[in-house]
Amino acid sequence: MKAVHWYGKEDVRVLDTAVPLVTDPQDVVLKVTSTCICGSDLHLYEGAMPGMKRGDILGHEFLGIVEEVGPEVAGLQKGDRVVTSFDIACGSCFYCKHKLFTGCDSTNPSKVQETMYGHHTGKTSPTNGSGFFGYTHMTGGWDGGQAEYARVPLANVNCLKVPPGLPDDKVVLLSDILPTAWHACELGEVGEGDRVAIWGAGPVGLLAAKCAFVRGASRVILVDQEEFRLEFAKKHIQGVETINFTKRKPQEALREMFPDGTAPDVCIEAVGMHYTTSWLHWLETALKLETDPSEIVNELIYCVRKGGRVSVIGAYAGYCNHFNIGAFMEKGLCMKAGQAPVQKYWHMLLGMIQEGKLDPSFVITHRPPLSQAAEAYKMFNSKAEGCIKVVLKTGA
Ligand code: NAD
Ligand code: ZN
Repeated sequence: MKAVHWYGKEDVRVLDTAVPLVTDPQDVVLKVTSTCICGSDLHLYEGAMPGMKRGDILGHEFLGIVEEVGPEVAGLQKGDRVVTSFDIACGSCFYCKHKLFTGCDSTNPSKVQETMYGHHTGKTSPTNGSGFFGYTHMTGGWDGGQAEYARVPLANVNCLKVPPGLPDDKVVLLSDILPTAWHACELGEVGEGDRVAIWGAGPVGLLAAKCAFVRGASRVILVDQEEFRLEFAKKHIQGVETINFTKRKPQEALREMFPDGTAPDVCIEAVGMHYTTSWLHWLETALKLETDPSEIVNELIYCVRKGGRVSVIGAYAGYCNHFNIGAFMEKGLCMKAGQAPVQKYWHMLLGMIQEGKLDPSFVITHRPPLSQAAEAYKMFNSKAEGCIKVVLKTGA
């Protein structure tokens, strides 16, 4: 079969590899039909995420038809159509029982440097996170689903059967970015009447904006530098406001947008680590020992109202320096972050899709064949005009 393999910075290759088999009684093997490229994959593509090995199979957002079923998988049969979760959870450990599926204790045997978690012993320790499909060996090194076939371990927990009649486009985003966008709002406790500002108008930020309105937000403001993405937002999300941070500093723009002297109740970070600075910029600010003005988490802290909520859904690994704990404390803020526990939300979100209350498919702009993955990664990574979310098609 064909699969997308990681070979290093900006180097992904579609190569032949063996079709996976059921190797555990709780596995299924899927014939993949739709498989997305995620902003999280770009962290790998840019070489920003440690723990990758040459030849790793990428992909953690996929949907397909059940081809083979392990004897301990209840409720799934050959021919069923399922979407998978990006996180691989066991469903029975302490964390899974508390619906903290991305904290699953059983599916990630990897160890990472303790420095990632604030210890300085130089030893390694468990990452404390679940396994992920097609991601770094820090998250278990599981084979991904940017492939013609994929093995899904613990299929009772990590597959959601989707009813016939719903096209792939409407349900494939249940694998990650729709639950992630919802989780961003949960972390920020977005509710009736809230004014919400979101950094990042990529697929995750756009869906977070949509979810915020569904949850009753009165204002949603998207911050980005890509004019095309901001225009796209205005076209597809009724009532959304935008700030292009290359033209206006978000803090200044927000001050004008809130003439009563208040500020957003909730600020959501949907950008992720490597976009914060260039290496040169980072070096300059580090040498001057100044707070880096483009360090986004600080910017959220400055922009949110006193007593407000900050939600960090963009991916970070290890230290990000210059965290302004002083401003955070003085303003009396609450900040939550995390990988989205997909399985906690996907039944509810599928229901909303079926009822017509939410349709995430508007973010999908490109559907190239899997064979064109290298070009598709390049296009998505460059924020090419016209490109928001890419779904690779296997032609099945
Ligand atoms: P993306 O790269 O398409 O979008 C990021 C956007 O941020 C881009 O449009 C970019 O122009 C914009 N941006 C860059 N610098 C900015 C700044 N200083 N201020 C405001 N905007 C800025 O990625 P995506 O697919 O939308 O994913 C966004 C983030 O969400 C990534 O870090 C990804 O890893 C993360 N993510 C997290 C989870 C989770 O469970 N927590 C799940 C999926 C994705
Ligand atoms: Zn993803």
